[in-house]
Amino acid sequence: MVNVPELFGSLVFDERTMKERLPKQTYKTLKKTIKEGKPLDINVANIVANAMKDWAVENGCTHYTHWFQPMTGVTAEKHDSFINPNDDGTVIMEFSGKELIKGEPDASSFPSGGIRATFEARGYTTWDPTSYAFIKDGSLCIPTAFCSYTGDVLDKKTPLLRSMEAISNSAVRILRLFGDKDTARVITTVGPEQEYFLIDKELFDSRKDLTYTGRTLFGARAPKGQELEDHYFGKIKDKVSAFMKELDVELWKLGIYAKTKHNEVAPAQHELAPIFTTTNLATDHNQLTMEMMKRIANRHGMECLLHEKPFAGVNGSGKHNNWSLSTSDGRNLLSPGKDPYNNKQFLLFLVAVIKAVDEYQDLLRISAASAGNDHRLGANEAPPAIVSMFIGTDLEDILEAYVEGREYDAHEEKLKTGVEVLADFKKDTTDRNRTSPFAFTGNKFEFRMLGSSDNISCPNIMLNTMVAEELTQFADELEKAENFDEALTELIKRTYREHKRIVFNGNNYAPEWVEEAERRGLMNLRTAPSAIAHYIDEKNETLFKKHRIYSTAELHARYEILLENYSKVINIEALTMMDMAKKDIIPAVSRYVKELVETASAKKALSAEITAELEVELASKLSKLQLCFSHRIDKLDSLLIKAGDISGKQELANFYADEIFPAMQEARAVADEMEMSMDAKAWPYASYGQMLYSVK
Ligand code: ADP
Ligand code: MG
Repeated sequence: MVNVPELFGSLVFDERTMKERLPKQTYKTLKKTIKEGKPLDINVANIVANAMKDWAVENGCTHYTHWFQPMTGVTAEKHDSFINPNDDGTVIMEFSGKELIKGEPDASSFPSGGIRATFEARGYTTWDPTSYAFIKDGSLCIPTAFCSYTGDVLDKKTPLLRSMEAISNSAVRILRLFGDKDTARVITTVGPEQEYFLIDKELFDSRKDLTYTGRTLFGARAPKGQELEDHYFGKIKDKVSAFMKELDVELWKLGIYAKTKHNEVAPAQHELAPIFTTTNLATDHNQLTMEMMKRIANRHGMECLLHEKPFAGVNGSGKHNNWSLSTSDGRNLLSPGKDPYNNKQFLLFLVAVIKAVDEYQDLLRISAASAGNDHRLGANEAPPAIVSMFIGTDLEDILEAYVEGREYDAHEEKLKTGVEVLADFKKDTTDRNRTSPFAFTGNKFEFRMLGSSDNISCPNIMLNTMVAEELTQFADELEKAENFDEALTELIKRTYREHKRIVFNGNNYAPEWVEEAERRGLMNLRTAPSAIAHYIDEKNETLFKKHRIYSTAELHARYEILLENYSKVINIEALTMMDMAKKDIIPAVSRYVKELVETASAKKALSAEITAELEVELASKLSKLQLCFSHRIDKLDSLLIKAGDISGKQELANFYADEIFPAMQEARAVADEMEMSMDAKAWPYASYGQMLYSVK
């Protein structure tokens, strides 16, 4: 039996452990520095480090590592052991305050977008004491931020912390206007729902495409996909269930609130959702969750796929970023309450988000832009590449009433529309719209565009910063107002009127929406490179600089890294495709055709009565397809050579999106047709049917 409360957080140097292990005064000072965000005094750090080391060693650790999130999007770690030599040749285990606070990994191989010249290889990691140290695989992990020698930010955590600061400052100003004198901090909370696939490890290893790129570059559809919708919320298979149980336990030990697990729409697809927490913790936890999923799947003879589109023809995997604002004592600022029409504080926060999403559609789109996610957005399994938001008809009616300057009677409205009057308003607003990229779901927003492998810091940096900007504008205006109530009503009205084009409560998957969105002047950024291009637009640069999230250099670095990453991913996919084509597929087809021809001639030699028509026809069909396939692979080859001559990062990414990616699709189409016509044993790879139904 698992004792969850005892288990929970047992591998985390959390509040409970700190209280237990630190001298009272040290604990107090540490708490104070965390709260005030000041650097830690070295004497205090020494005591904390020593206590951490003792605790870690007792729990089986031999090493420590600064754990950080460079621009690769995945976490990085470099392990040092605690050992220190004595004069007599023995060793003792030591960990100093300096080692806790600061690390200097040789950082020259992390992407920096040209910020850090490679000759200046030094990068610094500094402890983020708001995220607890934890134990993973025999190492004490210290969550850290990562920057260059010159102080430029090279990671995803620092800007996230900065954006949390920005939104807190602006939201507190708003609260003051409503008479709240006490709230010192407003935090953003996040609960990310994570989708993933599980397939048999042996089958995974047998495919180069999965191994090198995380998705299948070839593969004919299985006769059964997700048509019957029998997998969604279906009974969980034993092997998967064993995996999920172990995953829960490991996550709980790490202090992660793993809560919900179920089967998803596609065969072999599943989901995990944690209980929400502060944004930076949610981000660390989501990174750890993804890592644990992969590791634990291996222990069960499976591979966990986090790619956005491992299999064509069935749904890919995304991530839903549930986001809200709350005071540090836990009051949700996006909660409409029983009477939202008269809850002007709520309405003000609501229109701030509406204005932010409208003005910074591109930033939200960019935060979900990747080569992998391009397969999903707009493919009727995920929201389109157009950003809009769902607020539900009730809130829409309320805001419309404001704009028209009329009273709103919740009771009457509902009778008029024939909807039963519900006791609780929340029930009604949570009437979900599953197709919206950004949906209000009762007391939070659910941003649904993210890809499954994304690091959630990026969307949250965007969200926090853009909403901080709107709240700052509102505070500037309202603080000056002579009559607060009038100014407030006017502001809510005006903001909604000016930005309501972003609100769309209908079906986002419908083709009519694309036209309607165009009429409304909303952006439709279909590919990752076309979206990323807007990152450095003047309005965005102004935004990030104003709130001290990114300097111009840091913003441009991020822009370049995203583009580079896109081009690299497609390049690896194209190279893998060529490798599979030339080394495996074309030879396999030749062998099979030879077999057919030999069978045909054997038949003919035996007797003129036996027909060899089938073999001849099939051999001829496959030979033609094989030739066509080979030509398409050659075309891909020559396009890749052409790409080598393009120097601009944007131009190169555009070329990969507009020329190379379609050429890959064309090559794939022929290969999939050949697979359908061949003996399964002659085809060099595991089939979709085998992979999708491999886990029993
Ligand atoms: P679904 O979207 O599948 O219906 P739920 O309503 O169960 O899911 O919630 C999804 C996620 O939203 C969970 O991770 C939950 O913790 C998170 N969530 C709930 N309230 C908040 C909040 N105030 N802030 C951030 N996330 C929240
Ligand atoms: Mg959801």
